[in-house]
Amino acid sequence: MPEKFDAIVIGAGMSGLAATYKMASAGLSVALIERGDYPGAKNVMGGVLYRSMMEELISEFWKEAPLQRPVVEQRFWLMDENSVVTTGYKSQEWAQEPFNCFTVFRGQFDKWFAQKCTDAGAVIVNETVVESCLKEKGRVVGVRTSRPEGDLYADVVILADGVNSLLARQLEFHREWQPGQVALAVMEELELPAEIIEERFNLDKGMGATIEIFGDGSLGLVGTGFIYTNKKHISIGVGTLLSQIIEVKARPYEMLEYLKKHPMVSPLIRNARPVEYYAHLIPEGGYRAIPKLVGDGVVVAGDAAQLVNGIHREGCNLAMTSGRLAAEAVIKAHQAGDFSAGQLSFYEESLKDSFVVEDLKKYKDTTHLLEKNPQYMNQYIPFANRAMHEMFTVDGVSKKNKQKKIMKRLFTDKSIFSVGRDVFRLIKAVK
Ligand SMILES: Cc1cc2nc3c(=O)[nH]c(=O)nc-3n(C[C@H](O)[C@H](O)[C@H](O)COP(=O)(O)OP(=O)(O)OC[C@H]3O[C@@H](n4cnc5c(N)ncnc54)[C@H](O)[C@@H]3O)c2cc1C
Repeated sequence: MPEKFDAIVIGAGMSGLAATYKMASAGLSVALIERGDYPGAKNVMGGVLYRSMMEELISEFWKEAPLQRPVVEQRFWLMDENSVVTTGYKSQEWAQEPFNCFTVFRGQFDKWFAQKCTDAGAVIVNETVVESCLKEKGRVVGVRTSRPEGDLYADVVILADGVNSLLARQLEFHREWQPGQVALAVMEELELPAEIIEERFNLDKGMGATIEIFGDGSLGLVGTGFIYTNKKHISIGVGTLLSQIIEVKARPYEMLEYLKKHPMVSPLIRNARPVEYYAHLIPEGGYRAIPKLVGDGVVVAGDAAQLVNGIHREGCNLAMTSGRLAAEAVIKAHQAGDFSAGQLSFYEESLKDSFVVEDLKKYKDTTHLLEKNPQYMNQYIPFANRAMHEMFTVDGVSKKNKQKKIMKRLFTDKSIFSVGRDVFRLIKAVK
């Protein structure tokens, strides 16, 4: 008799772990199958973990979880070749419980979270690839794994297998992602003593900061560079839409090297020792790319469902929330003894009512707008830098004349109409 569980979860990332923990805590028998040597072994993130969504699962988790630094400052840089216009926010409130977000290493955090799932009663099967879903009469009834005699059965299967999402594709929930629907991110961990990190980023002991970089950080392509502080490491990376990488034949590792050598960045990472290098895809298709989420005996969560808010660099919180909501729908289905798509559509409904789909809907046109209109990244950001340079350089020219010069520069290549149209479109895409 093959082994049967109440639920099988594929993938021990943020969405899979959240779903597993929630269902196991409710008393369901759950098998979590992960292809890596251990949960987190294959997972890549900058990475900022948001407290509120994790706390929906484990109260005051920060008291025991392996975290790097609470983030007290978030900076945003509009960068050109030689300068940067900066803005941001720093708060003492974020330095205290309950905190806002933390930097983490997924290799450590996911391992800890997985132990919580095991403690709650889940079975975790590592080093095992799920090759396909097993179907009977059109309903998913289990999974075929890479292990000999490795078929496992369950009332429901949760696909939390990340951005590549091969299993949802096999089920024809979506087609292969288009290059405009995913970004390729490359990043490094650079080692530095804690005191040097705190000095360079103007931080109190143990506190952290993040910098998101637009413009020259991604060579003017649609994407962002990022710098995050960990205890004794700095995470630095750059992510760009795959369509743009293909179009300009960019080499991601060269983009990262460029960012590291940039005069605004290099003083922050001087003498740091590279210890890890990662490359990973990020779903960026947004609201319009959300695939079919529910079938008979199956639901899809996290990156596998394109649930990433690239504009706000939020992914793990959407993954955790979708995993938790998927689990809640499965618990209801278990109580009702009905695992049909109709019953499981409770997941789709609750996801639609949550910040996850609301936020993705709000920004549904933003990435596309930036992709089709390179001037936002490669003209307006350099312009903002030159305007600031003009205004803040004291050279005996009156401020009024400086303003005139700035406006003249803006309208040299562009008509008032095209500038107005760009402003209007941007406001419309983010409002
Ligand atoms: C460079 C980078 C930086 C990022 N920075 C941030 C950030 O700062 N903040 C933020 O919120 N988000 C960030 N994200 C996004 C965030 O990491 C993801 O949105 C989140 O991890 C998604 O979780 P998930 O569980 O859906 O997928 P994942 O975490 O990718 O987990 C999927 C799991 O499934 C396993 N798997 C896949 N296929 C199979 C199979 N067939 N059989 C068995 N196991 C399988 C994988 O090994 C993996 O463990 C970043 C992403 C990248 C790439």
